[in-house]
Amino acid sequence: MSSYIHDTINYLRQSSPAQDEFYQAAEEVLSSLKPLLDRNPKYQKHNIIQRIVEPERQILFRVAWVDDRGNVQVNKGYRIEFNSAIGPYKGGLRFHPNVTAGTIKFLGFEQIFKNSLTGLAIGGAKGGSNFDPKGKSDNEIMRFCQSFMTELFRHIGATIDVPAGDIGVGGREIGYLYGQYKRLTGRYEGVLTGKGLNWGGSLVRTEATGYGAVYFAQNMLAERGDSLEGKVCAVSGSGNVSVYTIEKLYQVGAKPVTASDSNGMIYDERGIDLNLLKRVKEVERARLTRYAEQRPSAAYTPIDDYPAGRNGVWSVPCDAAFPSATQNEVGDEDAAELLKNGCICISEGANMPSTAGAIDKFLAAGIAYGPAKAANAGGVSTSQLEMSQNASMLQWTFEEVDAKLKRIMENIYRTASETAKEFGAPGNLVLGANIAGFRKVADTMIDQGVV
Ligand code: NAP
Repeated sequence: MSSYIHDTINYLRQSSPAQDEFYQAAEEVLSSLKPLLDRNPKYQKHNIIQRIVEPERQILFRVAWVDDRGNVQVNKGYRIEFNSAIGPYKGGLRFHPNVTAGTIKFLGFEQIFKNSLTGLAIGGAKGGSNFDPKGKSDNEIMRFCQSFMTELFRHIGATIDVPAGDIGVGGREIGYLYGQYKRLTGRYEGVLTGKGLNWGGSLVRTEATGYGAVYFAQNMLAERGDSLEGKVCAVSGSGNVSVYTIEKLYQVGAKPVTASDSNGMIYDERGIDLNLLKRVKEVERARLTRYAEQRPSAAYTPIDDYPAGRNGVWSVPCDAAFPSATQNEVGDEDAAELLKNGCICISEGANMPSTAGAIDKFLAAGIAYGPAKAANAGGVSTSQLEMSQNASMLQWTFEEVDAKLKRIMENIYRTASETAKEFGAPGNLVLGANIAGFRKVADTMIDQGVV
């Protein structure tokens, strides 16, 4: 390991203890930057590495709320405003019981480079809470969101910091958060993205991350003279990203055969029944067992029956895989199994879904591997399109936004691919995406002085 990586990770371990996911994300980015740093001493001269791994601001707050039985509950709230060199802070909110400061920090760090790579003027941030939305009533969700926003509102604004959704935060939560922001400030402005279509939302925002991950895969395969048509695809998760990945896969002639949640997975050899999946997940908010009950062709496997230390989704033979649930869901052995079964394309809808060992295997095998910060950037890009529409008080059609999304994903692919070639590593989109994302932010930090 080069000394600057070693020194930086050591420094992070000491100054920000117990944040393993953040060290993992930092190490991946820093490892990619070596050829750039070797060529350009200016980044070292301006101490960019030490500055960029330190968030500009970290907000940690108490979220107290009352459940339906009248008990007072307390959760932690976070907003980490990581880097605003190239634009206002932008990044989602995650509500999940596993959320810690380290989770939000890794997500915020990734967001800096992802947002830069989109070519749009947005900085990096992330936020959330260890609140678990599962099993909560609508009223409990509303009271939690209102309490969360009662602190958050003072830190955000349409040109300051614009949160969106992530795991556990969808249209319903964004609605309650927006309502409380409006009540507290009296302002009707594009302070959140992922809003409802009646009140400032953009067409295609709901579909954008999943559609974008498929567009990204199409770009990777096209350069190899291949396409997704007729390909069997494994998809993990069954939330926002997964559902719209599956929808777009059907539209381009592929066959998605799996979906999962935190309890288990379904393998539907005939292809996932998208309407049934949407009904179970978006309307009934039920578990995948409900899907299996209504679809005799689907086999359901609970996670207790997965091979030890493995994710069952990646044992299903497939041509292309779309990890779309959560971080580190593709382990080293999962990667080996995917490759053994002939998988030739991975496009990451989730953030940091592959372990470092899994990434090494994909790169060594030379398959089309689209890392998260490039492949799932369609979500934040369309959020920025929502901000543009809010600022100009216009609403674009579905076709207009989708065409822009497609163009942005193609540009992201080209930028990552050409940067990889520029630094002598053709096909290595991890290196290409990290260097391209970093270079724009780092050059801007130099232009703007020591702040
Ligand atoms: P979501 O709608 O809440 O869905 C998350 C899905 O992943 C659910 O099926 C959930 O199952 C599963 N999941 C979550 N944590 C899990 C765990 N620890 N183990 C197994 N399964 C788990 O969230 P989403 O918006 O689709 O986000 C999915 C991923 O995409 C995340 O990594 C997120 O950061 C990333 N992402 C999202 C967007 C966006 O626009 N939404 C943009 C870029 C990246 P349960 O229901 O059982 O929890």
